[in-house]
Amino acid sequence: MAPIQNPFALQKPLKLSICYTETCNLFCQHCYADCSPEKASAELNSEEWGRFLDEIAELGVVYLYIEGGEPFHRPDFLPFLASASNRFFTEIRTNGTLITRDVTARLKEIGVGIVLVDILSPHAEVHDSFTGTQGSHARACEAVTYLVEAGIETQLLTILNRRNADDLQGYIDLAQRLGVKTAGVLRPYPLGRFKYRWNEVSLSLDEMHAALDSLRLPAGMKLMQSWHPNDGNSCWQMAAVNAFGDSIGCAYLREYVNYGNIKNVSFMETWDHPLYRELRSGQVKETCPSCSSSQGSHGGCRSTAYAFHGAWDAPDPFDRTLNHGVDLRVLPEWLLQPRPKPPGSPR
Ligand code: SF4
Ligand code: SF4
Repeated sequence: MAPIQNPFALQKPLKLSICYTETCNLFCQHCYADCSPEKASAELNSEEWGRFLDEIAELGVVYLYIEGGEPFHRPDFLPFLASASNRFFTEIRTNGTLITRDVTARLKEIGVGIVLVDILSPHAEVHDSFTGTQGSHARACEAVTYLVEAGIETQLLTILNRRNADDLQGYIDLAQRLGVKTAGVLRPYPLGRFKYRWNEVSLSLDEMHAALDSLRLPAGMKLMQSWHPNDGNSCWQMAAVNAFGDSIGCAYLREYVNYGNIKNVSFMETWDHPLYRELRSGQVKETCPSCSSSQGSHGGCRSTAYAFHGAWDAPDPFDRTLNHGVDLRVLPEWLLQPRPKPPGSPR
């Protein structure tokens, strides 16, 4: 059978995601970036990030998604954001704890597009135990209030796991109380510190769907969720650069790929990397009808397909149609190695 391919093909990126820093004021048990408070000297400095903004503006990028680490933890972040928001639609993912009223006023002035705040549970004690920081829930909720009051588009995000699945409705209700109109429920990824706690916190696919299916959305509330077919294979349209300048295609591929460093080569040289081209082509072994009808892409997320099967064109086990009995509560052994490399990988 001929491989299934995505009919879309971008000649250059329109949307780009950057991990501005791998530092953070919190120390979450589940941090995908394995953040620590101190900046590693190899992180891109302000000038290097500035030059990169010029380069991608020239390329025609229109949408910049900024995450970390915690972007607001780097003292040079607001000037960077101001410069970025002049040229791109900007979206920031943050733990919210560093967003004061003054910072909110500055964000309004800058004209930021969307702010996404991570809230791991409606219950402060559960959220704070995840973040390892007492009071982080209260501060995140305060930040959401400031942002909503300022009229900045604000959304909540949570990562579904064993410790918050029972009260997912409480999370939606909290979003409503805070005045937020979009709440995201994201699938967990076996990355960073999260993978070392996977056995303790992960759910089976049925348990994840049961939690999602039980939700009652208040009028006007939009649910954003990352299970197929709502969230298809988006590799064809993604570009990402980490805090050190490595072009990694997507933040969720951060441990598996490196297409080159933008300090040494142009972004478009990394875009041309054979593996990057392969992932953008959307070639997968298997798909189901709802893929193309919902997204025009096939096979679900490449990060989790690779994590569980060690192959880029494998089926995404978070997809009910393509799961084929994979128990999502059990990680393949190779993922827990310090530098994960699947069995038989030529890398
Ligand atoms: S708040 Fe985000 S960046 Fe900071 S440690 Fe937690 S998961 Fe990592
Ligand atoms: S790796 Fe997954 S999340 Fe990232 S762009 Fe590809 S499909 Fe989307």
